Amino acid sequence: MFIHQIPRIVPNLLPKLVWSRPVNENSQAVYFTFDDGPTPEITNFVLDCLAEFEAKATFFCIGKNVVNNPEIVSDILASGHQVGNHTMNHANAWKYGQEGYIQDYLACEKVFNHMNIKSIGFRPPYGRVNSYIYHQLSGITPIFMWTFLTGDYNQDLSAHSIIKAGIRHIKPGSILVFHDSVKAFPRLKVVLPALLDYCLQQNYKPELL
Ligand SMILES: [Zn+2]
Repeated sequence: MFIHQIPRIVPNLLPKLVWSRPVNENSQAVYFTFDDGPTPEITNFVLDCLAEFEAKATFFCIGKNVVNNPEIVSDILASGHQVGNHTMNHANAWKYGQEGYIQDYLACEKVFNHMNIKSIGFRPPYGRVNSYIYHQLSGITPIFMWTFLTGDYNQDLSAHSIIKAGIRHIKPGSILVFHDSVKAFPRLKVVLPALLDYCLQQNYKPELL
């Protein structure tokens, strides 16, 4: 079974990471985030979809994709969304050595700096965290995890089952993860408009992190 919702104990064990946003009584904010892009056509689809629902979102970009698709990053920012660091090469914290991981994080940071783009923080690829990320990087930059993982990259999941899980779990303050990647697109293209529509019906407002 795919676990969409982070069990409540995990954020309690790892409080230096951002798992959700605190909500006050009046806030209906939810946070749509997109990892692994920018990807030609797919990120453009996401941008069109967000515009249709007047939603704002955050894109955790892979540095090498930013280098290859700078015009898409410009479109993301021009549409009022924001971007964050997702490493240069989608580094896996459980496989990279500490020095290599830092270099991959910094290489992505450098790409943003060269383009004069402000990164809002870091999302570790695969959500994998090691002691360096948890104890040191978290002191330098916010590290954004999530509340609800769509699993849109998982071919074994149907779009219908993801939508159903979203409707069960999304609440004000939730951080949702999608992927603007080729792999996720068969599910993303169905799930994204459906969950944006659901949020609209509930009066939840997709906002910047
Ligand atoms: Zn990723």
